[in-house]
Amino acid sequence: MEKIRLTFLGTGDAIPTKKRNHTAILLSYKNENILIDCGEGTQRQFKFAELSPMQLTRILITHWHGDHTLGLLGLLETLIMQNYSKKLSIYGPKGTKRYFSLLSQFLGPYKKLHKLNLQVEEVQGKFFENNEFSLTAWQMSHGVPANAYVFEIPDQRRIDKSKLKELGVASTPELKKLKEGKDVFIDGKKLKAKDLTYIEKGKKVCVVLDTKLNENIGKLARNADLLVSEATFLDKDKKLAEQYNHMTAAQVAKVAKKAKVKKLILTHISQRYEKNLSESLNEAKKIFPNTSLARDFDVVEL
Ligand SMILES: [Zn+2]
Ligand SMILES: [Zn+2]
Repeated sequence: MEKIRLTFLGTGDAIPTKKRNHTAILLSYKNENILIDCGEGTQRQFKFAELSPMQLTRILITHWHGDHTLGLLGLLETLIMQNYSKKLSIYGPKGTKRYFSLLSQFLGPYKKLHKLNLQVEEVQGKFFENNEFSLTAWQMSHGVPANAYVFEIPDQRRIDKSKLKELGVASTPELKKLKEGKDVFIDGKKLKAKDLTYIEKGKKVCVVLDTKLNENIGKLARNADLLVSEATFLDKDKKLAEQYNHMTAAQVAKVAKKAKVKKLILTHISQRYEKNLSESLNEAKKIFPNTSLARDFDVVEL
């Protein structure tokens, strides 16, 4: 199976620091390049990472706070100038169409936006599915409409080619039926799907950005291969987390443990902890050992 690659283009919170830009994560799989949030300066982060926004296929917006969306206008201007010609789907929570039309007013006077083939959708639940993967939006709790997103590759039945070879079966389109779990007859011989196929396990990546603790996180993250989550505060500042609709590292770690995720990556750490980031990491690790802290330009493959 081809790998899913995550590039962390920005891992800071509301105020950027020297080392951390505003939030943006690029998820790449085969020909798909999905940008999750687009904080101010994201297109420059693409340059530093030696990636091109011209490869983008979709943009997922978690919510319309500025630290997650102020880079969108500049990014779209660049795509227009570089004659981006693919269809670009932009998905977000309730209110996305209104915010997007406000954004369009900035591009509108130059009559350039029409050059892009954009599709803007407000999404909830499973909103995209093809043979290769699906995208699901889950409602979060952040004082404004907010979504978390799940990218999932389903389990797939594969033909065991070495077994076919052993049996001396020549390749024919009929064999495709085996992938659907159906038995086939070739030259009067019955070939059983259960003997000649195996199940390749799918993969699940969850991205939970700004939100306070809520029960949807445990549900969406169940058995995930990777949970990327905000951990804006430390547990000693739990009251602030509650007040600003964010989570603490310990809260996220507890959810990860309970949901039996395989790996947890923390991001969107408050700049107030910049001098001692290991505190956030250690707080989570005590509860969920397989945790790491994202830095700008980290690349994770799975
Ligand atoms: Zn934020
Ligand atoms: Zn926010």
